[in-house]
Amino acid sequence: MSTPHSVSAEEYLPRDTADVVRTVRDSRSRSEQLTVRGGELYEEGFDLPAQPTVVSLRRMDQVLDINLGKRTVRVQAGAKLSEVDRRLGAHGLGLPVIGDHRDITAGGFASVGGVSTASHKHGMFIDQVVDLEYVDNDGRIGTCGRGHHTERFHRILCAGGRAGIITALTLDVIDIDKDHTWLSTNADRFLDFDLFVEHAYSEISRPGSSVLQVGRWVDTAPLKVARPVGTGHVQLGTVRFGQWSSLHPTAPNRALRARREVGSRARKSLGAIASAAGGRAGTPVRNAAAGAVMFAPKIQTLRDAEYLADTALSSSERGPAYRVGVFAPLSSYGSVFYRMHDLFSAHRERTGCFTVISAMTYGVRSRYLRAEATARGLAADDYGLITFTCRLRPAAMPSELLRDIVSGIDEICRSENAMRYESGE
Ligand SMILES: Cc1cc2nc3c(=O)[nH]c(=O)nc-3n(C[C@H](O)[C@H](O)[C@H](O)COP(=O)(O)OP(=O)(O)OC[C@H]3O[C@@H](n4cnc5c(N)ncnc54)[C@H](O)[C@@H]3O)c2cc1C
Repeated sequence: MSTPHSVSAEEYLPRDTADVVRTVRDSRSRSEQLTVRGGELYEEGFDLPAQPTVVSLRRMDQVLDINLGKRTVRVQAGAKLSEVDRRLGAHGLGLPVIGDHRDITAGGFASVGGVSTASHKHGMFIDQVVDLEYVDNDGRIGTCGRGHHTERFHRILCAGGRAGIITALTLDVIDIDKDHTWLSTNADRFLDFDLFVEHAYSEISRPGSSVLQVGRWVDTAPLKVARPVGTGHVQLGTVRFGQWSSLHPTAPNRALRARREVGSRARKSLGAIASAAGGRAGTPVRNAAAGAVMFAPKIQTLRDAEYLADTALSSSERGPAYRVGVFAPLSSYGSVFYRMHDLFSAHRERTGCFTVISAMTYGVRSRYLRAEATARGLAADDYGLITFTCRLRPAAMPSELLRDIVSGIDEICRSENAMRYESGE
């Protein structure tokens, strides 16, 4: 390959916008299909072509400018948000919405939309994008933003790399000291799904002073003993439970700070063990690590709380799974939640294709989503994001079942004015 920055036949590593332009034009002249990556990780759930030619922006990772007056930061698209946030911290500033792990890049997050447990308050990551620079699929540089070329701006945000490569972004930041903002967790636990959904709805509608919020529901497959007992297999029943967590500002005393240290060390070790514990034998450890997120410490800093999933859950949630996310308008939140739950439970019962079914939910008050709803002829509303993760057995889902599920979700969205959370397909 002629581009000096390619490290293999399949990967380009541009250092600046001019490199990106050359890369796009070179591959175009060779009729190569380019796949964009923010960093090194391949995210589970993306369909990659069999042999993709990848352009990774991981060397375009600079913070270009912090504007204290305007409360904005300008970054290259490959900058990791955790690093940007750390740099902002030195000025008493921070990013209002960051992803749940430390390797997420600004361009990658803007290309999927970006929601977090702070979205009930601050919206989506793309709500914080003031403007951006990009290279289109013909290799031309352009800029767009909230105030200019707005249509193009909306087309590129959330497009999953298909509408061009984002090379730099300007982001809104807020005044916040994440290392000294202490949060206290109020956790409500539920064994009843109806009560869980009711509580989630009421917290999402009226979040009060909560800085972060998240609800999780877990529904294990019916447990069966391995050997036949009497005439058949004994069914031990399904374990179902949920938790709603709201994190509010607090002033901690010394004892609570010490408790937080111990709690966070224990969860980190559990996460490390879970990531090492493979196969069937590792399942209890991985489940325990997932549980550790639900039983988070009473007191923690905002920075710790934002990455809680990174320390335990991400390493515990391995294995093939079907995931789907839906933005449910608050006016039909409960109905969407029940219908999605029923859809997956019914498929599990009928085909046995899923084992554990889990759901995560929180509020999303987003300018972008309201504009998107209006553009689709729907009433603009506030939303609850509801994501379902269904563990697969066996590893692959038969295509006719996938079709059934996708059309079931589409029908729920159509009839409830909900929107799928996806990267622009
Ligand atoms: C639909 C979807 C939604 C997700 N939402 C969330 C979420 O809300 N919160 C969360 O914590 N995690 C979310 N994830 C996981 C999320 O993708 C990753 O955590 C994060 O986006 C990965 O960032 P990355 O920089 O590694 O990007 P990658 O995984 O490399 O890329 C993500 C997507 O963005 C495109 N892309 C990457 N860089 C650029 C660029 N510079 N210009 C144009 N396109 C680019 C890629 O082609 C790909 O489609 C989501 C995943 C998917 C598939």
